[in-house]
Amino acid sequence: MNLKSFHIITIFPNILDSYINESLFCRAIKSKIISIKTHDLRGFSDARYGKKIKKGIQPFARVDDRPFGGGPGMVLQVEPIYRAVEFVKKKAAKGKTRIILFSTRGKRFDSKTAQRLAKYDNLIFICGRYEGIDERVADYIADEEISIGDYVLSGGEIPALTVMESISRYIPGFLGKEESLEEINGSFPTYTRPEVFSPKKGKKWSVPKVLLSGDHKKIQEWRNSND
Ligand code: SAH
Repeated sequence: MNLKSFHIITIFPNILDSYINESLFCRAIKSKIISIKTHDLRGFSDARYGKKIKKGIQPFARVDDRPFGGGPGMVLQVEPIYRAVEFVKKKAAKGKTRIILFSTRGKRFDSKTAQRLAKYDNLIFICGRYEGIDERVADYIADEEISIGDYVLSGGEIPALTVMESISRYIPGFLGKEESLEEINGSFPTYTRPEVFSPKKGKKWSVPKVLLSGDHKKIQEWRNSND
């Protein structure tokens, strides 16, 4: 099995770690199906880079600055990102590596892209924040830019989780026993007990009868037609 490693560069590693530690990701990491490392971009700021941080003394770890040409907001600087990516590349396992930048101007993410990216051994994700990222990251560092949809979020962390989870579902073993990939089987409505739910007197929400029939051929037909 080739281990997929995800490396996520962010100024909010804790946001990602808390999700990763309480989900299918946690199990997949324990069973060595994938490895996920978050990297705090601030660790690569001018102030901290290459210096041992002494307890209690935290130099101000600036990773953003004002945009050239004026305008509101701050822009993540190219240099800390370059250092972080170089650091991660050295740490990454052997094999094929792809560097992805999350951007509102990127190519729209879909399941085809997820399947393509699932073939890499190492994926390095760069999460933007504030007004965005110095464009030189897109021009010289990233292999591709991805957008998860036509809307603006406050950072690349949610896109990173979305993309990582979607890719992971294509990695053998990630879903464990529940290997019922919707992407392969198609997606259909599901129900569980009770057969009839009565939220109020006189109201009844029933499960479609065909699903209780035990007739597997009919059930399959129903599922296909509701795909
Ligand atoms: N000023 C930019 C928005 C920056 S949002 C613009 O108007 O387009 C800050 C960061 O959040 C971005 O750099 C990107 O990394 C991330 N982000 C926001 N929305 C996103 C989306 N739909 N898909 C992927 N990344 C997104």
